[in-house]
Amino acid sequence: MTGARRGNGSRPARRGQSTTTVGDERSALRVLVMVGGPGAGKGTQARYLSAALGLPHVASGDLFRDAMAEGTPTGLEAKAYYDRGALVPDELTVRMIAERLDQPDAASGAILDGFPRTVPQARALDGFLLRRGTRLEGALYIDVSEDELVRRLSGRWICSGPAQHVYHVVNHPPERPGICDFDGTELSQRADDAADTIVARLEKQLPPMYEVVDYYAERGLLLPVAGETRASEVTDALLRAIEHAVAEPVT
Ligand SMILES: [Zn+2]
Repeated sequence: MTGARRGNGSRPARRGQSTTTVGDERSALRVLVMVGGPGAGKGTQARYLSAALGLPHVASGDLFRDAMAEGTPTGLEAKAYYDRGALVPDELTVRMIAERLDQPDAASGAILDGFPRTVPQARALDGFLLRRGTRLEGALYIDVSEDELVRRLSGRWICSGPAQHVYHVVNHPPERPGICDFDGTELSQRADDAADTIVARLEKQLPPMYEVVDYYAERGLLLPVAGETRASEVTDALLRAIEHAVAEPVT
């Protein structure tokens, strides 16, 4: 509802690159985003899809960690915000995503997880893709009810590494109890994973997420799937949704 009138062709294409021609090399770039509440299984599904589609899984947490560890200019910029406990601006995050998409393994595209979380971030991503002469292939929305999110989050264990990989005692246990599968760090339960704080956190995080859902729905880019079934069924549904979207792209 807010600001739905962007991308009406009012912006000229910059840098002499056509934004409308299908068939230029950039149109091959496949960028998908994961949308869903905390505990919906975005990270888990993104990893499955990554393997199935041959596209790298780009989690915003990993993105920051790697850029900061490598000391890239954007990484150092982000670190300055982190160090003083400030939010990293959307524009900087999009620049980091842009750099990530320039890596050889992302030549065909990527699956973004953890971004966008807000409509301004979704717009920033659209703007970036438009400048690259392409557009988002789809927003994969894992639909999970609030009650189910609360249930899942209260069994949640999180790794102590910067990527904060998420596990669940029932739905997604680690291979070795208490240890992260990816970086070997210890898992712990966050203080705010107690039921009442979970509800408070969802009340804060879900409204902007639903706005992102509406934003993509208005643009015909939303690919919603039911998220309360087994993880493998969710993966199958997501793959079918992607296949269908590719077969009948929005114009
Ligand atoms: Zn981890």
